[in-house]
Amino acid sequence: MKINHIMLALLLCLVGVVTVQAQAPVSPPDEDPSRTVAVEPFRIIDNIYYIGTTEQGSTYLITGSQGHMLIDSEYEESVPQILKNVEKLGFKPEDIKMIIGTHAHDDHVAGHAAMQEVTGALVLSSAADKVIVETGGKGDDVRPGRSWTPVKVDRVINDGEKITLGDIEMTAWLTPGHTKGCMTFTMIAEEEGKKYNVLLLGGIRPAALPLLGQANYPNMAKDLAMSYGKLKKLPVDVYLGAHGYWYNLGEKIKRMKAGEGYKVFIDPEGYRKAIDGWQQEFTETLAEEATTKK
Ligand SMILES: [Zn+2]
Repeated sequence: MKINHIMLALLLCLVGVVTVQAQAPVSPPDEDPSRTVAVEPFRIIDNIYYIGTTEQGSTYLITGSQGHMLIDSEYEESVPQILKNVEKLGFKPEDIKMIIGTHAHDDHVAGHAAMQEVTGALVLSSAADKVIVETGGKGDDVRPGRSWTPVKVDRVINDGEKITLGDIEMTAWLTPGHTKGCMTFTMIAEEEGKKYNVLLLGGIRPAALPLLGQANYPNMAKDLAMSYGKLKKLPVDVYLGAHGYWYNLGEKIKRMKAGEGYKVFIDPEGYRKAIDGWQQEFTETLAEEATTKK
């Protein structure tokens, strides 16, 4: 019994202490205000950390012996808080060597330029999203009107490509539809002697409607349909995403702190349900559009 308590205490130390505090939101208000409440940084599993400012603004740090990868940078004004989060976890911002965006929307890449200025890291993007990142949002005609400080893309990532940095290995998958170059990432995490398939979803809902007939993205519906199929084939134990609320981050943090630890993030069922739900929404919208057309 006593040993169990010690084990639990050790586990909680490993996972890190997480507190949620009221703070001015850094992202635009969403329908659920809890999504913009500040989240304290914490270790998710193995070398993967949550350093996002909120459940909505979701940034991840993947640490390695030769430097770290950063996934998504949120908004320019989020960057100081993200850097503070890196330091709170005991890491140095200058050890960040790669900045990788899930997709070229302002809430994921607008902070890239400021982040690169501080860290000197390389900026990586898919080929299709590169032009949007580099023009500061000007190429994004499906969801226009949002701009940011442009940043040069140092390296283009292709579908199925392994991105390595020292002992970190992550695979990028093109899952277009939300943007033309939206990416999902997979990697292996090891915890307590077991290996887990980690998946970080980039986004799989249409960024604008209608699904058919988008002048600047005629293949949007086709891409989305392809990506649902692709996402269902990828191996998933740990489900993460470009927004924390997709995988119920708030609730999972509570359970994690209550003693379940990293295991709360092992949620293949939650992942399948989420993808099925979005696919169903897509199929229904497509059917509605077909009916309206007649
Ligand atoms: Zn987006």
